[in-house]
Amino acid sequence: MQVNLLYRSDINASQNLVVIVQDLQQAQSYCTSEQVWQYLQKQVKDEKKEQVKLIHLNQFTHHTFVLYSPPQNKAAYYLKESYRKKGHEIASILASEDLSDLQITNAVTSDIASEAVLDVAEGVLLSTYEFLKYKSDPRKLHPLVQLTLSGQGLTEAKITALNNTVHGTFAARNLVNEPFVYLTAPQLSEEIKKLGKEAGFEVEVFDKAQIQAHNMEGLLTVNKGSLDPPTFNILTHKPDNAINEHPYILVGKGVVYDTGGLSLKPTGNSMDFMKSDMGGAAAVVGSLYALAKNNAPVYVIGLIPATDNRPGQNAIAPGDVITYSNGKSVEIMNTDAEGRLILADALIYAARFKPQLVLDFATLTGSAVRALGNHAMVMVGTANRDIKSQLLHSSEQTYERMVELPLWEEYGEPLESDIADINNLGISEAQAIIAGKFLEHFVDNYPWIHLDIAGTAYLHKPQTYKGKNGTGSGVRLMYHFLTNLVK
Ligand SMILES: [Zn+2]
Repeated sequence: MQVNLLYRSDINASQNLVVIVQDLQQAQSYCTSEQVWQYLQKQVKDEKKEQVKLIHLNQFTHHTFVLYSPPQNKAAYYLKESYRKKGHEIASILASEDLSDLQITNAVTSDIASEAVLDVAEGVLLSTYEFLKYKSDPRKLHPLVQLTLSGQGLTEAKITALNNTVHGTFAARNLVNEPFVYLTAPQLSEEIKKLGKEAGFEVEVFDKAQIQAHNMEGLLTVNKGSLDPPTFNILTHKPDNAINEHPYILVGKGVVYDTGGLSLKPTGNSMDFMKSDMGGAAAVVGSLYALAKNNAPVYVIGLIPATDNRPGQNAIAPGDVITYSNGKSVEIMNTDAEGRLILADALIYAARFKPQLVLDFATLTGSAVRALGNHAMVMVGTANRDIKSQLLHSSEQTYERMVELPLWEEYGEPLESDIADINNLGISEAQAIIAGKFLEHFVDNYPWIHLDIAGTAYLHKPQTYKGKNGTGSGVRLMYHFLTNLVK
């Protein structure tokens, strides 16, 4: 069951309520007695150095949550994230107190006020996510049923946009959390079609014969050891009022399960989580979902090559050579570096659309995780400074953070091969960049950005509103970035 998200012009102070204040006096009228007011003041005096302080008042007939944030000089995006995190804390209290309804409003009259209500709501909503499909009792555990937002600067449209973006994120989380026994490449295509119908984007799926007809050599090669056929998915959101003639293209790595192939992975802490190796595909599907459901006036295409990577009898062997449709030959030194092999086909295919920009999302390297942990994506690319700073701005605003690494030519040297144009592995040092250098060989005449989300797409321990397991990494970022271009 979904949380029902509503907009109201006024609130009922005698029901469960979050009130955002900058000056504590603004919270006084929400206290039901002098004792509660004194308690509230005392809590703030004990204040730790927090950007936003949460004071939970159990007023017996209802709960009041005061979010107190005195004016500070930290960056506004950092404050937004503090509100999301407080939203997560409030969602935890709702669960422990078994509260089914909540209102959020602000007593603040600055520009950031309406945003703050949305930020807290985002933190609450994202924290109510549950993946219960395989539980014998699949009833929803989180008690929240109704969330009502109110306050200055809020509009129905902003609230709907938030709701749809949250559900795009949930769609991505669901896809990542689905085990491979269900989510084969053909089933991923079925899920994409279902979500396309629900949100209003178009879906075309190439089957194996069509993939062969398009000479998608990387995808066919990685699929050689599989029992299930590959698919190539084309998702289109092209509204009549689109601001762009040429599309923005989002490419997502759709390795629905990665054993490593003949270069087999160890099981513990490695292969056992490899159902998540389609986190890039999930990011693209979730982004298209949010954009289409919100009728965003921007023309966007998603390209998702999908297969599992298995050591079947016909599997590609280390040392084999394949030749791509753009003429480039690749010596495969490690069959576990398969993501880049299938992304290459999508990057070649993208060129036919003369795209404005291509962004690819992939759980690509352990190197990205070692460099940045699960707090940021690795970004590399050939797009210009303007595009990159717009992306970095969206990255801060959504707190889907990224760090840019260089694409210097020296990093491409380890990709040299004795018998082919390049090899698919290189060396382990700076592998997150080398993987980018590999992809660059297939980028043809368009600006391009590669985002390695190996650290951010899947969490082994719960982390605030991102939860545990699939996070939906990339969806909120792309929605912000692509809709911000319109403004
Ligand atoms: Zn792999």
